[in-house]
Amino acid sequence: MVTKTQNNLNAGRGIYWLFSRVIIAPCPAFFILEKQEMRTCTKCATELPEEAFHFKASRCKRCRNTQEKERYLRKRDQIVERVRTYREENREKIMETRKEKYKTDLEFKARCRELAAKRRAITENRIKANQYAEKYRNENRGLVNHRISLAEYKNRAKAHGQDHVCDLTYAQWIEILNKFNHCCARCGTTEDITKDHIIPISAGGNTTKENIQPLCNKCNTIKQRIFEKESHASKSASSEISTNN
Ligand SMILES: [Zn+2]
Ligand SMILES: [Zn+2]
Repeated sequence: MVTKTQNNLNAGRGIYWLFSRVIIAPCPAFFILEKQEMRTCTKCATELPEEAFHFKASRCKRCRNTQEKERYLRKRDQIVERVRTYREENREKIMETRKEKYKTDLEFKARCRELAAKRRAITENRIKANQYAEKYRNENRGLVNHRISLAEYKNRAKAHGQDHVCDLTYAQWIEILNKFNHCCARCGTTEDITKDHIIPISAGGNTTKENIQPLCNKCNTIKQRIFEKESHASKSASSEISTNN
């Protein structure tokens, strides 16, 4: 709240400000007088030197800035929407102005060209990066799949709360495949070969060359089902024993 006396005070300061710049400025005492001038911000109630305020403002620059920022954050959606609609409605006018400025303002032209070049470079880089990634994936499909499967095993072990060693290298996996002639260890097919954990992850098995064998997808599923049935049976058996005791 700005009181009448404060208003008068502010007006007085304004006059002093003018006076100081027109009349006293040429005299050396001005600098001393200027230094002594202090004001109190009505918002944060701190006494600050004159240069911390905009001319005649009752709040210091910092308070005003925070206030402006808060106002912007509060009304950001509205402001953004207003700017957007204005740009949409005045697209041609804006383009005209920009074209005119581009022709006459050399600095603006340079800035425009720089931005355009940057944008072009970003697009080209993105295309190149995508192409490179695709080429890499195609050339190293086996390795990429190997890494993906290891990541999945780690996640699965984490979900089971198991301490998991996961150090099977791609070369070791190829070695295992060669040992089994790239066939399923159970049925001998060469289709849909997957890494099978001889001791399952859920039972504390690791992803190491000692615990991995090639199984086709089908055999892997069958094995998993058998294991689940067995572990379920042993669990209920042990619970029966404990209840009998
Ligand atoms: Zn303040
Ligand atoms: Zn099989």
